[in-house]
Amino acid sequence: MLLTITNTRPPATDLGYLLHKNPSRVQAFELSFGKAHVFYSEATDQRCTAALLLDVDPVALVRTRRGPPGEGGALEQYVNDRPYVASSFMSVAIARVMASAMRGSSERRPELVDQALPLQATVSVLPCRGGEDLLRRLFEPLGYSLAAEHHTLDEKFPEWGESSYYTVQLTQQIRLKDLLTHLYVLIPVLDSDKHYWVGEDEIEKLLKRGEGWLQAHPERELIVKRYLRHQKRLATQALERLLGEEEPSAEEQQEKKAEQEETIEKPLLLNERRLTAVAEALKQTGAARVIDMGCGEGKLIRELLKEKQFVEIAGMDVSHRSLEIASDRLHLDTMPPKQKERVRLFQGSLMYRDQRLAGYDAAAVVEVVEHLDAPRLAAFERVLFEHARPNFIVMTTPNAEYNVRFGTLPAGKFRHKDHRFEWTRAEFQSWANRIGEQFRYSVEFRAVGDEDSQLGPPTQMGVFSK
Ligand code: SAH
Repeated sequence: MLLTITNTRPPATDLGYLLHKNPSRVQAFELSFGKAHVFYSEATDQRCTAALLLDVDPVALVRTRRGPPGEGGALEQYVNDRPYVASSFMSVAIARVMASAMRGSSERRPELVDQALPLQATVSVLPCRGGEDLLRRLFEPLGYSLAAEHHTLDEKFPEWGESSYYTVQLTQQIRLKDLLTHLYVLIPVLDSDKHYWVGEDEIEKLLKRGEGWLQAHPERELIVKRYLRHQKRLATQALERLLGEEEPSAEEQQEKKAEQEETIEKPLLLNERRLTAVAEALKQTGAARVIDMGCGEGKLIRELLKEKQFVEIAGMDVSHRSLEIASDRLHLDTMPPKQKERVRLFQGSLMYRDQRLAGYDAAAVVEVVEHLDAPRLAAFERVLFEHARPNFIVMTTPNAEYNVRFGTLPAGKFRHKDHRFEWTRAEFQSWANRIGEQFRYSVEFRAVGDEDSQLGPPTQMGVFSK
């Protein structure tokens, strides 16, 4: 299998200094499972492409017991995809053959190490258990644009269908060491068939290689689980360490940002009006069992508790800390048992399909959608409208057109630093109508807050019904 990396920033042959490999030479390295060859397929001032070709020896795999076990000397030991696809062997080769590039050292041109270069990596052939969707979920949050060519199992027998093999092209302005690190971790994750024994030191390796990006990756759980080859105990330990490192700073920041949003919207009493409007809309649906998705500090839940109609109220949020605050503010500890039975808070994510989100009459998603990365919206849509699929969904989001009315908000800025986008009325409505059609919901739009004749209301609401 072949990995190529192309730099297009002149002088493109700088790539040689970063890789510690002279563009005019062909080199070979002996590895325990075969040979790695490094050469350049082009080396001009404009474009320079380095290639890492891996020649896996299937017989060596059997001898070193690194291949599939095969039962009783079964054929699978010898005949399998390992020699032909980029698997963790590729990661091992990257780490061995491009160690200093991955570490980020260049003796001759140290200043290059921290420069983001226009790089393109092509991996052929990459086994991807989880399809193109998973490829995108893994690489797009890291900023790559991705092109994937899906290979049929056998061109002569199209009726056999598609294989799980892809040729993948990743493009981004990025530091070489980051590109190599992402490939090192994610290739075995995609393959999900790690070839060697996973020991405790694998956690160290993963955390070290994941520094600076894995913690914030929306698929970190899947990455960790698959990287540690589904060894639950190790995966749990690794996730605990990742999360442990993350919580305080990221979430304190989030609180500060939330305060900032409140300050901007405060003069309009928008928060209160939004909660009242959502509670009212939920009430009108006749729902008895409701869930607040992305409940934050539980303000809506407090409103809903006042209404007897709601016999079961769940609150879900991705942030542990917000849930703790919600639990404190609702005084769950000291609540009379009858009241307490009605409420349930749990940690989860709108990015993952989750049985716990299903079975409710109605869901509220208040000021949450604009916090989700645009490339991840599709996941959210399916989680909510296809899998959780409540009878009613009440969703609110800022109306971007209204922002010019906030004196304290600089032009072109969002109301909250963590907002990934803010929609105009037309944008929200066209999204909601499309979703309605796709998932068979009808949708009705309402205004929250005083409407400006031209700009519309400060907050927009969509009520979806099945
Ligand atoms: N609905 C609350 C909080 C809005 S702030 C209110 O109106 O007061 C946005 C909330 O969405 C935050 O609490 C944040 O932790 C949560 N959130 C962000 N991404 C999420 C995800 N993927 N899954 C679940 N909650 C998420």
